[in-house]
Amino acid sequence: DRAQAEYVLRTVEERGIRFVQLWFTDVLGTPKTFSITPAELENALEEGMTFDGSAIDGFSRVQESDVLAWPDPTTFQLLPWQSPEVPVARVFCDLCNLDGSPFEGCPRHVLRRALARARAAGFTFFTAPEIEYFYFADADPRRPPRGLDSGSYFELTPGDQAEQLRRASVLTLEEMGIPVEHAQHEDAPSQHEIDLRYTDALTMADTVMTTRLVVKEIARRQGVHASFMPKPLAGVQGSGMHTHLSLFAGETNAFADPADPTGLSAVARHFVAGLLHHAPEITAVTNQWVNSYKRLVPGYEAPVYVSWARNNRSALVRVPVVKRGKLESTRVEYRAPDSACNPYLAFAVILAAGMAGVEGDYPLPPEATTNLYELTPEELAAEGVAPLPTSLQEAVSAMERSELVAETLGEHVFEWFVRNKRAEWAAYKTHVSQFELDRYLPVL
Ligand code: GLU
Ligand code: MG
Ligand code: MG
Repeated sequence: DRAQAEYVLRTVEERGIRFVQLWFTDVLGTPKTFSITPAELENALEEGMTFDGSAIDGFSRVQESDVLAWPDPTTFQLLPWQSPEVPVARVFCDLCNLDGSPFEGCPRHVLRRALARARAAGFTFFTAPEIEYFYFADADPRRPPRGLDSGSYFELTPGDQAEQLRRASVLTLEEMGIPVEHAQHEDAPSQHEIDLRYTDALTMADTVMTTRLVVKEIARRQGVHASFMPKPLAGVQGSGMHTHLSLFAGETNAFADPADPTGLSAVARHFVAGLLHHAPEITAVTNQWVNSYKRLVPGYEAPVYVSWARNNRSALVRVPVVKRGKLESTRVEYRAPDSACNPYLAFAVILAAGMAGVEGDYPLPPEATTNLYELTPEELAAEGVAPLPTSLQEAVSAMERSELVAETLGEHVFEWFVRNKRAEWAAYKTHVSQFELDRYLPVL
């Protein structure tokens, strides 16, 4: 890291950078930052920068509120959208206690710990998310959101504003060294998708934070709003963050076995079994809002049942067919997460669930071959297919009983998260909605 730190200091000088934004994330995945001048940077890289964490969701503790933001020099990047006269860069930080030990409330640390456990078992964890989102004319919650286009899946809508915004976002990401695999119009009007090329999960969690910020910033500059809300419009698809997962042992994809009919190795099959077994417990993390559960309903290509399949868009885990000769791209796709999850925590619990399957040799249940949306609850029960939680309340209850999630998040984040989500549910539960007024007031 010494060499990396020197590279950062040199770049700051050569590029005439005036501010360095220190980036980190709260427990719910909200991006946070404070800026330092280049004069402070060397010191920050060596010793971290103290700040008062007590104002930040999920960080506050009664006794101690000062924490250190410790820049990770490997994440240093210029922000291309800042004015060239006042160049600004950013660097992601790990949060530490004043004695230098990892701060329990830091999501990046939660993910680092989960990755270290997998590494001890011989594996590196790679992820590749497909990030879906909407463009809206504004963010005024008093009226229904208005989209910018009326396109649909893979639509070629030449020259329209949303298409231009999406293209500008992809170019900006590439300027920041973030390879985009593919970008497209999604199924719903004004819904778009950016798919990132796979990297190790820590880099990817940072990248998801950057991508949301870039997409929002570029939209804001054109006076419109980009939203990662899981289900902003009733009656059309919501915004998922399907995530492709693989484990590597050294240079070898540990998920690949060309001799198996699914193309999956025993490690991969146990990993999927772990994901399925623990899916209900981790859903509060991958789908953390009241609104997340409006997306997880039948008929909109979002998962509702705990199942896996090779080619079935109603399944929770999909096993994509790999191109001939492309064994290294063998992977499984976990389709529950939505675009408004905290990527650090989501990747951590996904990995922990999969690794529990690998370490416990969980058997893989049979593949779901029918469209699960079309089966009745009785038929599903007969096939032993369990539902995902159908509300934040159910999800939090499942999480609260989960040793796996408690261990993965650590006590501090686990307890804070459960408390925060219980409070969100309580606020939602006492709210009287337009649905109820429309339906009941005229007749009751
Ligand atoms: N929008 C869908 C979801 O909520 C996914 C559509 C797709 O298959 O890409 O998960
Ligand atoms: Mg999609
Ligand atoms: Mg997908």
